[in-house]
Amino acid sequence: CRIFDPKMPFKEHLPNKQEIDFEKSVCEDTKLMEKTTMVENAERIEDVMMYDGFEIQNIIYDIITENDSDSNNLHIVFTNKLTCTYDITDNRYHGRAVICSNPAIISTAGMIEAPARPREYYFDVMKCKMQGLDIQNVKKNYNGEFLDYHDKRLSKIAEGYLLQAIFYYMTGDTFCDSLDCRLNNAHWQKDLLYSQLKIGKLCNKHQALLDKLHL
Ligand SMILES: [Zn+2]
Repeated sequence: CRIFDPKMPFKEHLPNKQEIDFEKSVCEDTKLMEKTTMVENAERIEDVMMYDGFEIQNIIYDIITENDSDSNNLHIVFTNKLTCTYDITDNRYHGRAVICSNPAIISTAGMIEAPARPREYYFDVMKCKMQGLDIQNVKKNYNGEFLDYHDKRLSKIAEGYLLQAIFYYMTGDTFCDSLDCRLNNAHWQKDLLYSQLKIGKLCNKHQALLDKLHL
């Protein structure tokens, strides 16, 4: 499911032994994923290990249908791999924190990488890299403004994406437009932190919908 060219739609790739061995070892120890090139350290985006979310979903779907005869069960998969989907409007892959369907896929790396950090941060990073300096200094200036790896806030954020996957499955309703709702599909880290942590609940419309479902 690896993406090798983020500007091209998914193409099946014949993996070499090294790639197969890597995937096998990641299955045994998911922490190995953290040793791969992060987006912020990548010289070229191709150096980041990205996975096609729909391809992962298809594979997991096949495994589930072989083992679970009840198609009414919702399966939600958590991964620390960076899941992406190809967008034909701008012809490139974009990181995704959640792919709603059954199985739904929630990516912790996607929570960190998919919603954008402040615009000024990217300028500062660019300047810093041009001067050959460590970007950690820039990150310090934006302390807490966006999620990072091992961020303590990630589990709370994951709850929001979990809610989105469950809601989508139960109601077929996609994300909520209101920032005051945990079902909001944030494009910015600022909005994500606002909806999930500062607001931390559903909007009136979605709360009423949940109440009607008599859970
Ligand atoms: Zn809502």
